[in-house]
Amino acid sequence: MTETTREIRLASRPEGAPVPENFELAEAPIPEPGEGEVLVRNSYLSVDPYMRGRMRDVKSYIPPFEVGEVLQGGAVGQVVASRNEAVAEGAWVQSLQGWREHYVSNGEGLLSVDPSVAPVSTALGVLGMPGLTAYAGLTEFGRPQEGETVFVSAAAGAVGSVVGQLARIRGARAVGSAGSREKVDFLTEELGFDAAFDYKTEDLPEALREHCPQGIDVYFDNVGGDHLDAALGRMNGFGRIPLCGMISLYNLEGPPPGPRNMAAMLVNRVTMRGFIVTDHYDLYPRFAEEVAGYVNSEQMKYRETVVDGIERMPAAFIGLLAGENIGKMLVRTGPDAP
Ligand code: NDP
Repeated sequence: MTETTREIRLASRPEGAPVPENFELAEAPIPEPGEGEVLVRNSYLSVDPYMRGRMRDVKSYIPPFEVGEVLQGGAVGQVVASRNEAVAEGAWVQSLQGWREHYVSNGEGLLSVDPSVAPVSTALGVLGMPGLTAYAGLTEFGRPQEGETVFVSAAAGAVGSVVGQLARIRGARAVGSAGSREKVDFLTEELGFDAAFDYKTEDLPEALREHCPQGIDVYFDNVGGDHLDAALGRMNGFGRIPLCGMISLYNLEGPPPGPRNMAAMLVNRVTMRGFIVTDHYDLYPRFAEEVAGYVNSEQMKYRETVVDGIERMPAAFIGLLAGENIGKMLVRTGPDAP
């Protein structure tokens, strides 16, 4: 009897917030690796906000997903059979072959993951793409100086939690916004943020006045919309705004609200710079060495929200957009490295 594996396909394009019916859990035979190929069993699948953008049929920096096809995303897994001399059986690898339990690869695009450095799941979070996003945006475009104030939105998430801690390591004051009391406590009590507030219960401009009394030098924007508007009104002269994400707009079907505070950019000579992490993989070696050092010395902490079973991937994705995660949102589909 052929063994089967499971995968998640895009059943239809979401309109507004995604719903379970937009996804289909499908079974397929476990593929056989051919000559020069390897079979990988995924253990962790990455759940990322950018995937919402790929569910729209629009031109972007990355092509849209096609209806009926398996969704593609970051994954970490173990090589369970190898017919490729360059990739040993038992090796841990990272790929963009997520939203499925198994896949076959000729080895191209597989990145090696060393389980002795840190738990393999971190290759999708603090030591992976989200960590690099925080590092690239903050060090290349935010460039916080000692004593400056860095404000980050979606601060308790995968990217935001690294931004705030890195800002503090650089000698800046870190202030974060997040969507619950539990997240605010996580930021101030566990991650060492200097201040944090719940944007759902507090008025944004007032909270920024209270928590950023010296103004904002760097606003690391993960949210856009009302957060960007409020932060613009509090920027200091020559402030920097790395535009990383606009999650408050991802489920919007109508025209997005414009920031109304553009005059504040002009008078304060603020620089706003959009960036995409894939343009900054040249920073990866420096990032990996520096941030792995912080993680291993516990100068930087991280949290993961792990949901078990590929069948719960759509719920995890819907939950991520609704703020159900603290730190990196992951789905576990296989064993950890021993
Ligand atoms: P997170 O782990 O931060 O998860 C997303 C979080 O966004 C949720 O937990 C939720 O937290 C928050 N959120 C959802 N809706 C809203 C809203 N309307 N207003 C405010 N907050 C909201 O995800 P990531 O760390 O992976 O990504 C963070 C941002 O960075 C996203 O915008 C993403 O698209 C972007 N990104 C950009 C990259 C780039 O190359 N430019 C690369 C990777 C990510 P809460 O409970 O606080 O609301």
